[in-house]
Amino acid sequence: MSKKWHELALEAHDGTRHVLGISGGKDSAALAVYIKDHYPQIAEQMEYFFTDTGAELQEVYDTLDKLEAYLGKPIVRLSSSRDFNHWLTMHDNMLPSVKARWCTRVLKIKPFEEFVGDDPVISYVGIRADENREGYVSHKSNIKAVFPFAQDGIVREDVFRILEDSIGIPAYYEWRSRSGCFFCFFQRQEEWLGLKRRHPDLFKIAVEMEENVSQRKFNWSTGERVEAGNGYTWHQSGKLEELVGRAELKERENKEKYNAKAKTSWQERIKCEDDDEPEDKACIICSL
Ligand code: SF4
Repeated sequence: MSKKWHELALEAHDGTRHVLGISGGKDSAALAVYIKDHYPQIAEQMEYFFTDTGAELQEVYDTLDKLEAYLGKPIVRLSSSRDFNHWLTMHDNMLPSVKARWCTRVLKIKPFEEFVGDDPVISYVGIRADENREGYVSHKSNIKAVFPFAQDGIVREDVFRILEDSIGIPAYYEWRSRSGCFFCFFQRQEEWLGLKRRHPDLFKIAVEMEENVSQRKFNWSTGERVEAGNGYTWHQSGKLEELVGRAELKERENKEKYNAKAKTSWQERIKCEDDDEPEDKACIICSL
């Protein structure tokens, strides 16, 4: 029988580093709390880190502050040495997309791999027992990933309970199903509407970024620039203002449903919603 994650952790030799990446999302935050509460010996050795893309929501920083206070330890802030605009220029002004996801590579994975270097590392990943997805598992041979929630049978409902009993559920879950950059292309159309309402300044920036590249031609199937094709947008189904318009229309058409939903607190509501869509697989290092 293969060893449990905490046996591996406790048996690791002295030079091994224990690292837990906090994305700002619910699962990694709950995992940090869970390990501190149930495995203090491992938590004592843990290095927490957050990879800042420079395009994070204030709600994410608020969650990090609460978590640091609860853990009694700093969450090391990592970042790529350059900002998003630099990398955008380096990628020929092609906005990242599902097919051309350079952002995760340069803004998330590279800083993490530099942080751990060649040290022997155990990386703690918050994938739960009730989901079927893979986290970012580095191909570097010195990094061993372990999955405490998956092995201990912790499911979505448990994660919400762990957070409610400790630091609270991150506030952006009221209108968004994942953490990550404010302009993340994985957002659903109603989440873009949420961004426009909660952070109009950031929404405006995302619209301007789209405008700046709208003359570019892009093939959504291959993720490549082409001579003939659609003008580039954050989402395949149209410009941000169109997406938001459709979300508003949907809201008006389903007024009764939305009014009924509004009567329940968002903390209760999200427990019944599905945030683990297949596309989340693609962005797990940003939002887990
Ligand atoms: S959150 Fe979205 S936009 Fe930001 S790095 Fe991850 S995939 Fe890219």
